[in-house]
Amino acid sequence: MPEKVVVVGAGPVGALAALYAAVRGHDVDIYELRPDIRDPATAPLNWNKSINLALSERGINALQNTGLPDLADAVLGETFPMHGRMIHLEKKGEYVRIPQLYDPRGKSLLALDRAELNKALLDHLESMPNVKFFFNHKLLSVDFRKQLAWFDKHNKSEAPEERGTEIEIKFDFMIGADGAHSAVRYHLMKFVPMSYQQEYIDKLWCQFHIPSTPAGDFRLPPNYLHIWPHDDSMFIALPNLDKTFTATLFHTRSGFEALDASRKVADYFTTHYPSVVPDLITAADLQKQYTENAHLPLISIKCTPYHYTSTGVILGDAAHAMVPFYGQGMNAGLEDVFALFTLLDAHPSDRATALAQYSATRTPDAHTINDLALGNYREMATDVKSRVYLLRKWTEEK
Ligand code: FAD
Repeated sequence: MPEKVVVVGAGPVGALAALYAAVRGHDVDIYELRPDIRDPATAPLNWNKSINLALSERGINALQNTGLPDLADAVLGETFPMHGRMIHLEKKGEYVRIPQLYDPRGKSLLALDRAELNKALLDHLESMPNVKFFFNHKLLSVDFRKQLAWFDKHNKSEAPEERGTEIEIKFDFMIGADGAHSAVRYHLMKFVPMSYQQEYIDKLWCQFHIPSTPAGDFRLPPNYLHIWPHDDSMFIALPNLDKTFTATLFHTRSGFEALDASRKVADYFTTHYPSVVPDLITAADLQKQYTENAHLPLISIKCTPYHYTSTGVILGDAAHAMVPFYGQGMNAGLEDVFALFTLLDAHPSDRATALAQYSATRTPDAHTINDLALGNYREMATDVKSRVYLLRKWTEEK
């Protein structure tokens, strides 16, 4: 029987969950706090910037199991393979680049524009008659027993008397995919004894855009995830289809404060990240982007269980936000969707059992990926440049 499935959050995980539910014939309503990212008139500015991610086996598998092969092909067609990482180092005063393959059989990570993935999923959802969108709707509260939820409707294009009004909706099943600061999780906690743990690590991140060359080519070998390791800080760059790179500086809070105070960002880069300035980005552009782009914190969240009886579940960052050093946050969230619907399909008339199994099996997996992500900072920022490590990788690849 089709049921009313309410998905909160239209990010990559919420959009994929909505698709899995819609393909199974349910009436799917998607509530999203922000405006539609596909509408250039209303999309928040920072959504138009390329935020590229590494898509890996977990995410690819979840996309390929939607039952919509054309959609998966279209999404995967807009990715760029990264066969390995390339470490940029200065050794005895000489700049060296050391490639390290990810997989001896040639498997690659895929660089993907998060906004493009999101848009492709939303476009497909829009074409389905059993899906409705409610953008500019902020979840305020949920009663998982009565299966009621309340949203603040704040669409600026509505008539003034319609703006900022609260609406009440009824649902059979709510999927919370509303990110690290999840309102669904907050309300779920009132219905289940949920263990919850969060940690802000001592790293901030700031994103940079590396343009293509004047001839329109990549400034670095494109099929790699580039890393400039420097222990407390690290600079990385992932390729985009338009032959630019999106790069990220990770540094301690005090490291960012020191750069803020000195304004000598280019000097820091010249000292620690060989060849970045001016080969990839000019000193002036680097300083401008450093000043204009946000310096954002990184949170790691573990909780369990993820569900309440048969009426609600949280997925993606809402359930297990993780630091980005293992490149698995979104991938694990997409895999949540596949894992959840595999269990729902196995228990077609007993969602409570499916959800209980989901929490039981997904918790150890999610907690492990979370720990691996925390541990992988050291691998990326320090271990990759040790002699022993380089020798081991070199021997593995032979
Ligand atoms: P989100 O993308 O946060 O989406 C949640 C949605 O819910 C948003 O649209 C939000 O507006 C909406 N929402 C929030 N509150 C409400 C509310 N009250 N009511 C209604 N809607 C609401 N992951 C990878 O797999 N690979 C990578 O290489 C990678 N690199 C990363 C690099 C960085 C620097 C960072 C910070 C993260 C990276 N990640 C990566 C992690 C990835 O970005 C996240 O795991 C992923 O975006 C989570 O998707 P989500 O749909 O669960 O949540």
